[in-house]
Amino acid sequence: MLKTLESAVPVACWSCSVAHNDFTLFCPHCSKIQPPPGGDYFAVFGLEPRLNLDLPALEKEFHRLSRKLHPDRFARSGEHERQWSLADTALLNDAYRTLKDPLRRTEYLLKLRGAEIGEEAAADGNSRKDPSRAPADLLEEVFELNMQLDELREAHAAGEESAALESSLAAAKQKFEALLAEVDRDLRQQWQAWDAGDETAREAAQKAMMALLDRRRYLSNLVRDVTGTLGA
Ligand SMILES: [Zn+2]
Repeated sequence: MLKTLESAVPVACWSCSVAHNDFTLFCPHCSKIQPPPGGDYFAVFGLEPRLNLDLPALEKEFHRLSRKLHPDRFARSGEHERQWSLADTALLNDAYRTLKDPLRRTEYLLKLRGAEIGEEAAADGNSRKDPSRAPADLLEEVFELNMQLDELREAHAAGEESAALESSLAAAKQKFEALLAEVDRDLRQQWQAWDAGDETAREAAQKAMMALLDRRRYLSNLVRDVTGTLGA
């Protein structure tokens, strides 16, 4: 598991030998580029792990660091520095792509905390419920939906008109999209709880987020299936 800011391990700068924590891309003492640091994606931006991020500030910092790391700037530097500018840039890009996206950010933070997410958890034969199974409150609707999807596929295959079926499926799709929006609202509430909470509150928020992510994955797949079949 990746280290966090709290467990900072000091390393000596290759250039000036002054010790700094292993999370910065540049030496705070002599400003020389450093090898890819061993911290997490939040630490790359000098942030503690948080779910509510100031996205404009994150973007600004991303551009500032991208410019500083740009390989052109190291064209006349030593071989190591040139390699590090490439490796640090790749790390910065991965970190930014992950943190700017709300869902990726949430999954990443949960993974940092040791949680197994989605397919990973299923593939591990983890004791958590199979994410491909319908949430209990949706069982009946999903059953109904799957029958209608089958019917529509058969109708399409036979070249038959199926306006009633299609409008019923379109309505179901709208409903599942509304449920997805609800999940996203709930997730944001858990972000607040996690960011503001002590360790106990974080454990609870983490559990709630895992369940919401499972539900989200399930609902997204349903919407995708319906969209695909309606469009076929
Ligand atoms: Zn230095």
